[in-house]
Amino acid sequence: MKAVAVMLPSREVRVLDVPEPRLHSPTQVKVRTLEVGVCGTDQDILKGHHGAAPKGEDHLILGHECLGEVMEVGAHVQGLKPGDLVVPRVRRPCPHTRCPACRHGHPDFCVTGDYTERGIQGAHGFCAEHFVEDVAYLHKAEDSLRGVAVLTEPLTIAEKGLRELSHIQSRLPWKLSPGKALVLGAGPVAQLGVMALLRAGFDVTVYSRSPKPNEKAAAAEAVGAPYFSSKEVTVEALRKRLGGVDVIYEATGASKVAFDSLQVLEENGVLIFTGVPGREEPLELQGDQVLGQLVLGNRVMFGTVNASDSDFREALEDLARFRAKWPGRVEALITQRHPPSEFAQVVEAKGGIKRVISFQEHAR
Ligand code: BGC
Repeated sequence: MKAVAVMLPSREVRVLDVPEPRLHSPTQVKVRTLEVGVCGTDQDILKGHHGAAPKGEDHLILGHECLGEVMEVGAHVQGLKPGDLVVPRVRRPCPHTRCPACRHGHPDFCVTGDYTERGIQGAHGFCAEHFVEDVAYLHKAEDSLRGVAVLTEPLTIAEKGLRELSHIQSRLPWKLSPGKALVLGAGPVAQLGVMALLRAGFDVTVYSRSPKPNEKAAAAEAVGAPYFSSKEVTVEALRKRLGGVDVIYEATGASKVAFDSLQVLEENGVLIFTGVPGREEPLELQGDQVLGQLVLGNRVMFGTVNASDSDFREALEDLARFRAKWPGRVEALITQRHPPSEFAQVVEAKGGIKRVISFQEHAR
């Protein structure tokens, strides 16, 4: 079967002919890939900043955001049958007994760093015609989500972040409404974050680079989140307009914007970092000022990566809720579908919001 892989160490992307995967245990499921989302992490892998092949291999099959259809189930698999739509999780636990997070089923909080991630770190991904996965790492998606469920994985980033946020803000028992949120960036993780924050009851504003009009600004404003460009409105001016926000959801991976935005964060507010930083310029930071903002204002900054079982379940439910609340808007986030052979070009492509590789349209 065909698979899209990055060769190591050259980091060249190739469509390879690889052996058809087979079930090796009665709890495994064989899946036909329908769609694979491409994101900044894929770009980091191709640039050599991130990612590793499985031990002893010279290539990594790419793809970690995936929607597939069940082809075959092992004898002990319950709850899935051929034809069902499924979304796989990304991270698998490390092998160490000393890792309490992995041993308790929360590899997204792994403390050893020896986890594997399918399509990213030491395990082949889903950008292949078929793949095999244990049922424990698959989530069933309703048929009605066929056109959007490839967005589940990027939405889980927001689900985990908002779950952690609600734990942290339970320290403010007098707070009756969620308040205001500022989303930094306007890519897919940001747009899905906007929808999740709106659904949680926040007044949401988006702050990103490109001046209006542009399709990312239009997507945010269509669901009710005003958009400002950092090229036209300074952080100070934004602070004056918004009057301070309760939550900042950072989805750019650009550290300067992220730390500058602290000026907009109210007392007791929370800054959530979700963007995995690229290798950018060193940042000059007024350390005492940042510490002062945190300590004297009870502000919290936290980073969040990957997601758990419950975040995937919540994301699948939220996709259905978002579709009902904003008809056509979730679909509109997927702006281009490409054949598998175009993976490398898609990673470099400019414009659009979410680009996906479609096996459905192109490989059959
Ligand atoms: C993925 C996460 C993964 C992270 C770091 C992100 O793009 O969504 O699942 O943990 O990259 O590898």
